[in-house]
Amino acid sequence: MEYELDIIPGTEWGFFTLPRPMCIAGPCSAETEEQVMETARGLSAFGIHVYRAGIWKPRTHPGSFEGVGTPGLKWLRKVKETYGMKVCTEVASEKHVLECIKYGVDIVWIGARTSANPFLMQEIADALEGTDIPVLVKNPVNPDIDLWVGALERLNRAGIKKLGVIHRGFSTSAPILYRNDPGWKLAIEMRTRYPQMAFFADPSHMAGDRKYLQELSQRAMDLGLDGLMVESHCNPACALSDAKQQLTPHDLQNLLESLVIRENTSDNEAYKDGIEALRARIDVIDDNLIKLLADRMEVSRKIGRYKKEHNVAIIQAGRWDALLAAMVARAREKGISEEAITAIMNAIHDESVKVQNEVLR
Ligand code: PEP
Ligand code: MN
Repeated sequence: MEYELDIIPGTEWGFFTLPRPMCIAGPCSAETEEQVMETARGLSAFGIHVYRAGIWKPRTHPGSFEGVGTPGLKWLRKVKETYGMKVCTEVASEKHVLECIKYGVDIVWIGARTSANPFLMQEIADALEGTDIPVLVKNPVNPDIDLWVGALERLNRAGIKKLGVIHRGFSTSAPILYRNDPGWKLAIEMRTRYPQMAFFADPSHMAGDRKYLQELSQRAMDLGLDGLMVESHCNPACALSDAKQQLTPHDLQNLLESLVIRENTSDNEAYKDGIEALRARIDVIDDNLIKLLADRMEVSRKIGRYKKEHNVAIIQAGRWDALLAAMVARAREKGISEEAITAIMNAIHDESVKVQNEVLR
């Protein structure tokens, strides 16, 4: 039986003011009390209510700046007292969770290296049990949706219902424009599975460079995601971690103001009629697709029987490769991408082989 997540939507946590995007901003790392306070001042001045700062930093190399640790939690408490902001930080162990509870951290997030580790996820879930702290889970570094869902499930089973996700992209060995592969497809799948769950994008860690933040933030909004977690530092050039990707509060304000926020739906009657007519057409096409697929499977079954009579193996690799190449060429003429047609045809082929195998048994 699949586990059903029992989630309270982000809009009901009382932390975020509407309209979209719900915004979490602050430095990659808390470095000094002055830097934490100065950044918070700049952000709260234009209405940011939720402040982020890394206290324990998961760095690739030992010896890099690994965060200031517990003393930084006192600075976050001061941010709360001075600016009335909610504060959040990353936790990766039971010790981190206990320290956050002690210092009144309002939200915690799980980093991409931690959400990929079921042992740590269980340890964190156990430590959070019985608290009401919202938890945001970043996608694991590798594009594995089940690992991501599993992390959420562990928290949910420990009674955490104020759950959200942060899409920050995936590690990749191929050189790409960004620091991490945005892999939006997986975000869309997650959003489709859990439409009620608070969904943030982290354009900062996706981009790795502030020059890409605007386009990635706009993309996240175009996909209808609820919010953004963006790194902001009062003096980015001097940041002890992720200097290239941080924005000053002022630049973040400009970025947010530049975003075009489209509604998830519209009350306009003409729009409603138009979209209903188009959706009805899609339904008819989908119905036809099912009929065609059923016909195709029936022919596969016949082929299976025929091969059996003549003692011929089911898979003839050469034939499939040729068929796929022809389909790719034809699909391209119709404006369908090679990636899409290959995925569709491979899924159909897998099912055909299954059907033919059943005939052999
Ligand atoms: C961070 O948010 O500072 C961070 C370390 O992010 P990630 O876990 O996405 O790498
Ligand atoms: Mn960072």
